[in-house]
Amino acid sequence: MFNNFKNVDKIVYGRGAFDQLDDILSVQRHHNDGFMVFVVDHYFHDKQEFINRIPVKEKDVIRFMDVDPKEPTTEQIDELRDTVLAENGLPAGIIGIGGGSIMDIAKAGSLMFTNEGSSSLYQGLNLVKKPGIYHAGIPTISGTGAECSMTAVLSGPEKKLGLKCDWTVFNQVILDPDLTATVEKNQWFYTGMDTYIHCIEAESGQFFNTYSQVYGDQSLKLCREIFTGENAGQTPVNNEKLMMASLFGGLSLTYSEVGACHALSYGMSFVFGTKHGYANCLAFNHLEEFYGDAVAEFKDMVKQNNIDLPQNLSKDWTDEQISQMAEIAYNLPHMWRHAIGDDWESKWTRQDIEKLYRRL
Ligand code: NAD
Ligand code: ZN
Repeated sequence: MFNNFKNVDKIVYGRGAFDQLDDILSVQRHHNDGFMVFVVDHYFHDKQEFINRIPVKEKDVIRFMDVDPKEPTTEQIDELRDTVLAENGLPAGIIGIGGGSIMDIAKAGSLMFTNEGSSSLYQGLNLVKKPGIYHAGIPTISGTGAECSMTAVLSGPEKKLGLKCDWTVFNQVILDPDLTATVEKNQWFYTGMDTYIHCIEAESGQFFNTYSQVYGDQSLKLCREIFTGENAGQTPVNNEKLMMASLFGGLSLTYSEVGACHALSYGMSFVFGTKHGYANCLAFNHLEEFYGDAVAEFKDMVKQNNIDLPQNLSKDWTDEQISQMAEIAYNLPHMWRHAIGDDWESKWTRQDIEKLYRRL
């Protein structure tokens, strides 16, 4: 069976494109109880000049959400949905303005406004029963590909896993590279590397194909321009390029699969709350047998951009924490099937995964 991939309905791209949001929303406002919910990264809560540009109308709800130190949880989504429904009614739409965390909150929130019970019931593929409400994503940091993916990744009581279905995909995305100008350098790198790693993982496994390759090649070319050579660094031109690299990396990944690095990263996020991009970098640095020369290229990018990437973390981890992470990672069969093959279970054990964690 080939992937029948649902794309984002509409995309606006360009520096300053954010100011089109008011026009874009005006035709959506009459649905349901006629108001919008804006979910905005906490970083912007005191950035008045930016807040003034968000088209919040009288009945709208604006929520600044703190995604540090933990990434979005099912509990947060349920609370958001329950409070808004009780106090304001059913929104016409939900707009996420922030990184992968905030965009995933908007995607999951959209679905949970129309589906009953806790969002933890829907972690998995095609478990959502009804379409959600209108939802738009506006990245303020580039790399995750959450702007175009079919999934909204949440940490629940038992697992870190996405709500994945056609209805998860955004109706509208606004790509305005200027919004990313203020990202702190290490965070810029960690999240930026998410797209590099998506492309390398997509091409390093059995589900790789030409569709995935054409997007991945372009994204990797942009990553090399952004993170290596004399033009490397966080410049306005590179912010433009990284926003497109993120989109293309997401499209490459969506039509292939991630592998060992993301499996290890999910384990760390679940057990320690380690941020996704950072956890990927920590793992990727030690996965030569899966990703070959790309690991050397990654190390070079770390060096050229003067990025902090701590070593010897596992010396402070207990055996119990390591086996808990390995359990989470092992239970992502689609990733191992991609990386190792259909017979991965006969070749790969929880102990092999523990060994990888002990290298970190
Ligand atoms: P993030 O959203 O967690 O944000 C990282 C940090 O950057 C936060 O401290 C935030 O406040 C800050 N920040 C964001 N924009 C800023 C700006 N313009 N200026 C200054 N600071 C800013 O980071 P992320 O790496 O984009 O997202 C990680 C999340 O995305 C994880 O929850 C992960 O599971 C998810 N993810 C989802 C998908 C998907 O397909 N849905 C793919 C990959 C990752
Ligand atoms: Zn990722």
